[in-house]
Amino acid sequence: MSGKIEFLSRTGEQTKAIHAGEFPDPVTRASSPNLVMSTTFVTDADSGFSAENMEKDDIWMYSRWGNPTVHQLEVKLAALEEAEAGIAFDSGMGAISALLFHILKSGDHAIVSDVAYAALSELTNEMIPGLGIGITKVDTSDLYAIEKALQFNTRLIYIETPCNPLLRLTDITAVSEIAHSAGARLVVDSTFATPMATKPLTLGADFVIHSLTKYLGGHGDALGGIILGEKEELFSLRKKTAIRLGGVLSPFNAWLILRGLATFPIRMRVHQENALKLAIYLEQHPKVKRVIYPGLPSHPQYELASRQMKNFSGMITFQVLNGRETAQTLAERLQIIHYAVSLGHHRSLIFYMDSENLQQTSFRLDTSRQVDSWNEFAGEGIFRFSVGLEDADDLIADLEQALL
Ligand SMILES: *Cc1c(COP(=O)(O)O)cnc(C)c1O
Repeated sequence: MSGKIEFLSRTGEQTKAIHAGEFPDPVTRASSPNLVMSTTFVTDADSGFSAENMEKDDIWMYSRWGNPTVHQLEVKLAALEEAEAGIAFDSGMGAISALLFHILKSGDHAIVSDVAYAALSELTNEMIPGLGIGITKVDTSDLYAIEKALQFNTRLIYIETPCNPLLRLTDITAVSEIAHSAGARLVVDSTFATPMATKPLTLGADFVIHSLTKYLGGHGDALGGIILGEKEELFSLRKKTAIRLGGVLSPFNAWLILRGLATFPIRMRVHQENALKLAIYLEQHPKVKRVIYPGLPSHPQYELASRQMKNFSGMITFQVLNGRETAQTLAERLQIIHYAVSLGHHRSLIFYMDSENLQQTSFRLDTSRQVDSWNEFAGEGIFRFSVGLEDADDLIADLEQALL
């Protein structure tokens, strides 16, 4: 078995996506791994009852502590992300909240991207500060703003790149240097980029977060999340936080996500190819004011995108003059593209992001510099478009008949 693990560690992404973490079933010799739904496992009489007694995270005891099917997923994702280990959760937010509880305690301070996934933004607006943890929101594409926000008790810098919904990038290597020289840890939510684009741990990040609900699962039928990082640290996170907060992934969802992962590198190549075609189409459309796609030379950070992303992923943000009305027309007229939230699925999804409303609810941008950065990037009337795996010509035809 160790020969196989070593052989796999030198293979390409597609081979890892198919084989890492998997072995033929030792009893039945089934080539496709069995789904283990059991919540409990028969143990030896000397097993301890508390998670404190847990010595390894692949000895099965109770499925909240660890489960063989979920473990396969954790090993496969660790291989794809070049991480030592991973812990899967019931959703991306499950992973994010467990990680915040693991790192931060009362009296600590954290710097968080001012534009990031809405639920993370809302969690850090009131609830986390309510626990006596200081939070400063900054535009993390601005390295000077991060340095200025550092405090003696800053334990964590939390970034998302590209960020949702602006597709603004943050330089991971530069921020990891700032974080480490201040004695803080760097967490990167890499859901939009995926490990096909960027491997943040190799650029200096301490933890990577993914919502598995998006590109990694890829089929819009299972929520999930993961934290990836260093083995010892994650073992302690599993014992102290994951098991006690309890938001762990169900084996059935792990099995669905594992099936989705088998085609993940192939899918990302097509997501990128389709997104580039759609971005070029939208850029010349008379109704479209602006297109933001990291793979277009018109992206304000194209140089950083080319350096940091090996695949530009499938997310496009575009701006029109009359956003509300266009949203109405698109919701009524689109035939293939679904007017729906979420992203990273084989189906194309589009959704209107009301800038004014988002700035009042999720992102409370409080300096004029932050507001200027938002407007410079996208402004009013923006759509988030998750370009799926349909034929690009059909997606263009669908927009052509709907975008009036
Ligand atoms: C969707 C998403 C999340 C949250 O994931 P869930 O699985 O919906 O809980 C976190 N970060 C980013 C960037 C996302 O797109």
